[in-house]
Amino acid sequence: MTSSVLVTGGAGYIGSHMVKLLLRQGHRVTVFDNLSTGQRDAVQGADFVKGDLRQATDAARAFSGCQFDVVMHFAASCYVGESVQDPAKYYTNNVIGTLNLLEAMRAVQVKRLVFSSTCSTYGDPVSLPMSEDHPQHPVNPYGMTKLTAERAMADYGRAYGLDTVALRYFNAAGCDPEGALGERHDPETHLIPLVLREALRLRAGGKPEDTQLQVFGDDFDTPDGTCIRDYVHIADLCAAHLLAMECLIGGRVSGFNAFNLGTEKGYSVKEVIETCRRITGQDIRYRVSGRRAGDPARLVASAARARAELGWSPEFNDLAEIVETAWRWFSREPARAIG
Ligand code: UDP
Repeated sequence: MTSSVLVTGGAGYIGSHMVKLLLRQGHRVTVFDNLSTGQRDAVQGADFVKGDLRQATDAARAFSGCQFDVVMHFAASCYVGESVQDPAKYYTNNVIGTLNLLEAMRAVQVKRLVFSSTCSTYGDPVSLPMSEDHPQHPVNPYGMTKLTAERAMADYGRAYGLDTVALRYFNAAGCDPEGALGERHDPETHLIPLVLREALRLRAGGKPEDTQLQVFGDDFDTPDGTCIRDYVHIADLCAAHLLAMECLIGGRVSGFNAFNLGTEKGYSVKEVIETCRRITGQDIRYRVSGRRAGDPARLVASAARARAELGWSPEFNDLAEIVETAWRWFSREPARAIG
């Protein structure tokens, strides 16, 4: 069945991959994006509305042309470090923006939402792997703003009949396996793209000893002293959104629902660098610097609920496969990858 889907933030890293999948599945897609971090050329084949969710009138305008079956909400600011420096940006984008979206949906009776949430809503782990019932005590404004948005969705669910699936991603990684779309953040702060940028620098003739790559702390309580994260492929994240949408449309879930998305495997920062070194064939080096504020030693998901209730089964279960898809895009599109 064809659905009409509004994708906020559809020009961004995850949103653009989602749009490609929705179109391929035959759905009608409208992208709503302010292009503050997204790229217009990443949206091919969907309707496009330029607008900013921080403006209630823009949010309402997104719904003027179509009665959408579902909204997928990716538009947000997503850097932990920046959220500590500039919380106002995060509260306005992620909280006010989401509230404006919810109000615009309520005005036109659109009642299904898939929300891009995060494991940062949990804060420091008290148990591992982390399930959806893990306490939510965010340790940075990014996580707090996403949690606030989740709470609003749950309240709107009870009061106004909004049905929501919040997908709590662990570390989104990798690029379109077909190589058409990639990961373009400016500034880039994420580990895998930074390591691959270093590989590109070396491939272009840079000297290994001039590396700018930093490992943020090697004195954590982990086997090699560096932080462990659960890297989950973007194609698997998108597949989960599609399943969530189908569950909402089929009435198999209602009210507020949360699912973790991760592979349930952890890799250390040093293991990530070693994997990138092997796949790129470059002599990637790094310097160890101090810990980054708010970095827990380990974050690993339990995704049992997504498997059982959404029928989700990630295809990319190995870090090397994830890095390969990213390197395919970085090595083909070095100018775009570096920005
Ligand atoms: N990291 C690092 N050097 C970098 C960027 C990240 O050592 O230049 C570490 C970071 O401290 C964390 C892991 O790599 O332990 C993953 O960080 P990323 O920013 O990719 O994702 P996050 O876990 O913050 O969502």
